[in-house]
Amino acid sequence: WLVYSISKNAAFCFCCKIFLPEDLQSLGGTQDWKNLSIVLNKHENSPAHLESFQKWKELETRLNTNTTIDDKNQRIIKAETQHWQNVLERLIALIRVLGTQNIALRGTSDKLFEPNNGNFLKFVELMGMFDSVIKEHIRRITSHEIHNHYLGKNIQNEIIQLLATHIKETVLSALKKAKYYSVSLDCTPDISNIEQMTLIVRFV
Ligand SMILES: [Zn+2]
Repeated sequence: WLVYSISKNAAFCFCCKIFLPEDLQSLGGTQDWKNLSIVLNKHENSPAHLESFQKWKELETRLNTNTTIDDKNQRIIKAETQHWQNVLERLIALIRVLGTQNIALRGTSDKLFEPNNGNFLKFVELMGMFDSVIKEHIRRITSHEIHNHYLGKNIQNEIIQLLATHIKETVLSALKKAKYYSVSLDCTPDISNIEQMTLIVRFV
């Protein structure tokens, strides 16, 4: 039950912290390192601690056997977490495929089921025709149940950036193992006249 807080440089009792009101905690962040063994010993045998310790163990058992009064809520939260993980997994996989194939993601519209809304949204629509997770996701969006739909340009860019970082790290770690390598840089302005630099590394 003993926990240490790095930021406060103090020792706490886990179960008393959770189950007791602040003013009743006899071990609410002690820094008395000299007398720690006496303090801990006294705390461990105090009635308040024994009570919160029992509450802690009881909750633990109940959580493990799914018999807490909010068990139904817990299960809904768990299912919800799983749903969102499934949605993100599909969106990341989709962006990865589009990126690998050099296919542009966006069009002139950023709304589902509109013409010219780009390849990303069109493929999300396609997945929604067959995949139950995306189908449910689209249902929530079109019925205005949710407002964070994770289909916008910001999340697309964020996922692209995460994938890019991962690819770069993989390439760099292979490069470092190869020991001998060459580096070349090439610059060219893009369509909006901003200079873009390509970094090319070559190794065996
Ligand atoms: Zn305690």
